[in-house]
Amino acid sequence: MKHSTRKTQGFSLVELLAVVLVLAVLAAVAIPLYLNTRKSAAARTCKANLTALAAAEAAFVVRHGRFNTTPMVDYNATDPLSGGLVGAPEGITSPLNCPWDGAAYTIAGGGVGEPLTISCPHCATAKGGDNAHEAISPSPDGFSFYYRTLSAPATEQ
Ligand SMILES: [Zn+2]
Repeated sequence: MKHSTRKTQGFSLVELLAVVLVLAVLAAVAIPLYLNTRKSAAARTCKANLTALAAAEAAFVVRHGRFNTTPMVDYNATDPLSGGLVGAPEGITSPLNCPWDGAAYTIAGGGVGEPLTISCPHCATAKGGDNAHEAISPSPDGFSFYYRTLSAPATEQ
């Protein structure tokens, strides 16, 4: 059986440079992919949150005959009997915020005879919105992924 007589001396400089180059190329590809995936996931979760809040508002209307228009208080309230949206009757089990940066959702309207609009501050159609989500994953019809508008509840005659 033949045995090599060459002593093992570790890696040569060229071999190490080749490994470093390969790792740098992999990182250059993987890091942007990771960041884009993270942004996309936040945008999709935000859309789901807005859908859940719209459904909760619809349930709130059924119970109270009006919209819940104080989200800073009531979206985060944990007692559904006090009018909060967080609780079994409204179907939200924990407070919801935009997953991108934890920003609170805003509402507009919702008074008697008014429609209610729930939006993420990263939606350009919200006043002062920065359009961050739209830059991440454009919706086919503009910005509608990031806000929900509910028509005014019918008033009793
Ligand atoms: Zn958002």
